Amino acid sequence: MKIYGVLGYPVKHSLSPSMHNAAFKALKIDAEYRFFEVAPSDLNKFFDALMEKGICGLNVTVPYKERVISFLSSLSEEAKLIGAVNTIKISGKGLEGFNTDGEGFLKHLKEDLKFDPAGKNIAVIGAGGAAKAVSVYLSRRRPARISIYDVDIQKAKNLVHHLKENFSIPKINAAESVEGLDIRHCELLINATPVGMKESDPCIVNEGLITDKILVYDLIYNPKETKLLKLAREKGARVSNGLGMLLYQGMVSFEIWTGRKAPKAVMQDALRV
Ligand code: NAP
Repeated sequence: MKIYGVLGYPVKHSLSPSMHNAAFKALKIDAEYRFFEVAPSDLNKFFDALMEKGICGLNVTVPYKERVISFLSSLSEEAKLIGAVNTIKISGKGLEGFNTDGEGFLKHLKEDLKFDPAGKNIAVIGAGGAAKAVSVYLSRRRPARISIYDVDIQKAKNLVHHLKENFSIPKINAAESVEGLDIRHCELLINATPVGMKESDPCIVNEGLITDKILVYDLIYNPKETKLLKLAREKGARVSNGLGMLLYQGMVSFEIWTGRKAPKAVMQDALRV
């Protein structure tokens, strides 16, 4: 039996085991997907024993998406551009690192939400790992403008600099505040911060900034409706939480590991918890 799993700390909240185990079962693949909750002080030991444990593939989540790179034999072009890995394939070729977050986001956006970023004005809140993955994939689609805001303005500036170096985007800037994102003139607003996960979190944007012309995409999927999504829905905007991104990034990882087409309906059903 082949073993796969999700590496993180903490990780027990992850929905990935349900999704991948349902897919293995549906395709009659003799494999099991487990939780690997590994404390930072045990990470070296975990990678030393990886082969012996018979692990063939991993998803990687917080806080290891960047740290795992030092253990890998090679990186995909996307993982290099994003600077983070969320999928590892372990084979005779060694440990290969991929990043499927951005691809998962874009597939959900285009295939299910029928939104093409080409020529659009886009605002991104947050400039961490997820924002980087998402904005690299958006940049490939030639949007008209990308504005990025992060509480740490230097992080937003670094991401803007990185995108400018690698893509040709007519307008791109790091905003000094949420207001500076000019959301009222955007077609897509993305929340790529953890703000909204906790009941006590505020709505990350002021009410007046959301119009019914915008698609509001919150990468958070637990809770299913953050305060931002509730406000946007009430304003008549189109909304999406992060479950679609989770599904598609998982499908891409599954295909990298198994070489088989991921069973979308089965994996989607497993996420309906
Ligand atoms: P991260 O690396 O910690 O990045 C979050 C960024 O947001 C940090 O730079 C943080 O700054 C910034 N931030 C925090 N509060 C802010 C505020 N009020 N305004 C502006 N910026 C703020 O986290 P991540 O890995 O990118 O994940 C971000 C979110 O995406 C999480 O909720 C995660 O669960 C979700 N996610 C979803 C999927 C999916 O498949 N749906 C995949 C990946 C991630 P500081 O570091 O200074 O606090």
